[in-house]
Amino acid sequence: MGTSQETNGRALRRNAARRRTALVTGAGGFIGGHLVGALLAEGFSVRAVDRKSPDRWYQAHEGAESLELDLSAADACARAVRGIDDVYNLAADMGGMGFIESSRAACMLSVLISTNMLVAARDEGVGTFFYSSSACVYPVQQQDTPDVAPLEESDAYPAMAEDGYGWEKLFSERMCRHFSEDFGLETRVARYHNVYGPHGTFEGGREKAPAAICRKVAEAALTGGDSLEIWGDGKQTRSFMYIDDCIEGTLRIARGPRLEPLNLGTSELVTINELVDAVEDVAGTKLRRDYNTDAPQGVRGRNSDNTLIKRHLGWEPTIPLREGIAPTYAWIHEQLRARAPVSA
Ligand code: NAD
Repeated sequence: MGTSQETNGRALRRNAARRRTALVTGAGGFIGGHLVGALLAEGFSVRAVDRKSPDRWYQAHEGAESLELDLSAADACARAVRGIDDVYNLAADMGGMGFIESSRAACMLSVLISTNMLVAARDEGVGTFFYSSSACVYPVQQQDTPDVAPLEESDAYPAMAEDGYGWEKLFSERMCRHFSEDFGLETRVARYHNVYGPHGTFEGGREKAPAAICRKVAEAALTGGDSLEIWGDGKQTRSFMYIDDCIEGTLRIARGPRLEPLNLGTSELVTINELVDAVEDVAGTKLRRDYNTDAPQGVRGRNSDNTLIKRHLGWEPTIPLREGIAPTYAWIHEQLRARAPVSA
């Protein structure tokens, strides 16, 4: 019999040998940065990859292996998946409506990432392959009123996805399905509905509504402004999922049974005006609202039907908008405050 120290040493080495490896692509972005943190906290050995250099990532985690690779190229994907058990493929050229409506070809080129990542994952024989799809796969004509019926997964067909971005997501979802059926790759797909939270894009043209509204309110607070511009008439509706729910749902879907693509979003439907109310309340301010009805607005209404995720996983996102907006606003306000000139 060995000493207890030797026994512990052996156990540690066994655990180390068993430590699963995870790859997160798009790790320099918003959701990827949070996912890397969650996987590290669980004890995974994590490789984090993005086409941006790590000094430009929202979160570069010390414990992860951080690599700069352009995953639209097949050899970069092969490098990224080497020795990996679980793939989380989040890399995509994406943004809010302002970006999606003016960059359809760029959005569709993300199909190079999806394709080359699937091929590389198949060839490497990885354990699971998670793909982040989007509510933009749903037919636009089913989202033309603010009091829209929540979107069920089966509504995606017959298909008439959001032009550009939505079609690429739908095609890549479909590839995941057939890589499972034909090659036995264990793919999992979530259709994310609007995700928000700290450590994400809040300026530059790719930001989504919650971050954009937080930025505009924070700018007003820091500069003494009394108004903010709202894209559209403010009556369009959405559901917004806080990042913690997104990460929890991603891990549950990735580790759950193989299913058709599942909605991952909250079913708390709010108007953009109500989103602005929530941000103003956190900021303790009230601003004049200037509605720009010529700006990109996307669909008129969108909500997530969560019947399937509840049935299959016994769980759904629950964090209320007002709870998630507080840390989001605080982080964006701090980013702007830190760069504001110090008054004498
Ligand atoms: P993000 O833009 O913050 O992150 C995406 C990252 O992918 C970026 O850092 C970008 O540099 C990287 N990337 C782009 N092209 C690449 C390439 N060729 N090689 C390597 N890296 C590349 O976006 P996000 O909000 O974190 O979204 C993550 C995923 O979730 C995306 O697939 C997106 O389509 C999907 N999604 C997000 C939302 C949302 O509300 N944020 C909603 C639906 C779906």
